[in-house]
Amino acid sequence: MTFDGIRLVTRAAHFAAQRHADQRRKGRRCEPYINHLAEVAALLSEATEGEDAALVAACFLHDTIEDTPTSPDELRDLFGDDIAAVVMEVTDDKSLPKLERKRLQIVTAAKKSRRAKLLKLADATSNVRALAVDPPTDWDGDRALDYIAWAEQVIGHCRGLNSKLEHAFDAAVSGARAAVLSRVA
Ligand code: ZN
Repeated sequence: MTFDGIRLVTRAAHFAAQRHADQRRKGRRCEPYINHLAEVAALLSEATEGEDAALVAACFLHDTIEDTPTSPDELRDLFGDDIAAVVMEVTDDKSLPKLERKRLQIVTAAKKSRRAKLLKLADATSNVRALAVDPPTDWDGDRALDYIAWAEQVIGHCRGLNSKLEHAFDAAVSGARAAVLSRVA
C-alpha cells in the first residue's frame, strides 16, 4: 500500500485524534492527548525538513497500540508495514511491570532503528517539556527529576542522528530541571 505524504500524515492524524479522543495529559490544563502527538510530529517534521512523511505519520500513531484499543495488524492494514514496524519499536510490552518496562527502554534503545530513535528523541522532548510547563498534578519534584534523569539515559543511546532534535531535547532537559527545582525551592 502506498500513499502520498500529505494523505498519509493526514490519515494518521485523523486516526490518532479519534483513538485518543477521550484521553488528556496529566497536567493541570488537562490538554487533549492529541496535542502531545501533534508536538512530536511537528518536532520531527521540522528536524527532518519534511523528508520522511512515514515517520511523521508514525509520530501521530506512536501511542495507539500502547494506550488505545489498536492492534499492530490494524496499523499494518491502514498504514503499511513500515509505519506499523516503527510504532511497534516504540511500544512497551504492557504485560511487564512498569519498572521493568522503563529499564528495558534504556537497554534496548541503542539497538533500535534510526526512525525509532528519532521518534524517541521527539517523544522524550515533548514529555520533558511538559514537566516544565504543565507537570502531572500528582508528581512531586523528586518524581519529575527521576523522570528527567531516566529520559537522559534512554536518549543517550539515541544520539548522533539529528543535531536539531538533540538540541531541542537538551534545552527541554535544562528548562524542566530549572522549573522543577524552582518549584521545590
Ligand atoms: Zn508519546
